[in-house]
Amino acid sequence: MTDKRTDLLGKTKEELTSFVRAIGEPAYRGTQLFHWMYARDAASFGVMTDLGKEFRSRLDASAQIGGPVLRKSRRSERDGTAKLLFTLADGMEVESVLIPPSSSVPDRDADDEGRLTLCVSTQAGCPLDCAFCATATMGFRRNLTPGEIVGQVLAARRETGKKITNVVFMGMGEPLLNYDAVMRSTELLIAGAGIAARRITVSTAGRVKEIRRMADENRKVKLAVSLHSAVDETRSLLMPINRKFGLPALMDAVEYYYRKTKQGLTYEMIFFQGVNDTPADVRRLIALARRVPSKINIIPFHSIAFTRPEGFAASLAPSARLAEIADELRGAHLTVMVRTSAGEDIEAACGQLALGGEALPRGGHAGAARQAGRGTHTHSTKV
Ligand code: SF4
Repeated sequence: MTDKRTDLLGKTKEELTSFVRAIGEPAYRGTQLFHWMYARDAASFGVMTDLGKEFRSRLDASAQIGGPVLRKSRRSERDGTAKLLFTLADGMEVESVLIPPSSSVPDRDADDEGRLTLCVSTQAGCPLDCAFCATATMGFRRNLTPGEIVGQVLAARRETGKKITNVVFMGMGEPLLNYDAVMRSTELLIAGAGIAARRITVSTAGRVKEIRRMADENRKVKLAVSLHSAVDETRSLLMPINRKFGLPALMDAVEYYYRKTKQGLTYEMIFFQGVNDTPADVRRLIALARRVPSKINIIPFHSIAFTRPEGFAASLAPSARLAEIADELRGAHLTVMVRTSAGEDIEAACGQLALGGEALPRGGHAGAARQAGRGTHTHSTKV
């Protein structure tokens, strides 16, 4: 039976204050609830020992702390990456990926030590249909609520007992298609969960209107764009969204974003052999990336054969070619990071998120989804 009690997870401090006042409690109780839920990861009122038994019982009668329920986690033996599978209140499932410091990354950043990143999902499935992405094969189910998004972070902290330093909105779904919930989630993570705005990255496949909206709202979180080609025709083949918002419109929005926020951004690139890795492709990318301060993440491509049995026709450019491209970009004074794979052995790597098949109806796209896989917005594990 559906729980009819008010779900407090996802509410702001002000909303919690209104809630407690409505049940006859002083306003500071709202602040206490906010702190317990977002800073101390409380999943029930029972642990909120400074609230008083009587108040906790009344809370229990009228409210709940919802959010996704962690059903299982699987850790990569190879690199320590962990995939977390969550069940939502309506039975839908989503996944997050917990990524430890990338000790195997040759160009690790100075602040990489101690970094623990959670890649969160923002939608169940995804309506976009990027050719290289496993999540795309699931189709779109629904948007996640703020509580379901923030709840992934809180549950991951409870599970590991560790501080999550970075959050990337790069799991299943296109975050900017769930704009309000995603932005509220970033606010809750900053104000409640103690994660700095500069350690939160929202990644988009290229939603032009929402990039401009982020600029207008002067959002302090970081922006990443899944680019994958600086050539319109090629990008349209890889990412159908490009047929709606082509590169001229996308770059206008990116320039607008930079003018308004003075923040640079990250471009995510997967180089496919013979598709987008030619010298001409690289020249186009250099010209595009120079338009505003940016860095380029070169990320690996992982097999998605488990969700697309027919496979994706292209394969990753050879590592020697990736190294050449990185050198060429650096030679053009661009900041480049070449990412190694994380979590590929547990299908938690970029592009591999396609969900636990047991919860998905068979048939259609989802029918092909393999159990214990998971979906992802195909971006970097670190930005
Ligand atoms: S890469 Fe991101 S936007 Fe594209 S289909 Fe996958 S989840 Fe959706």
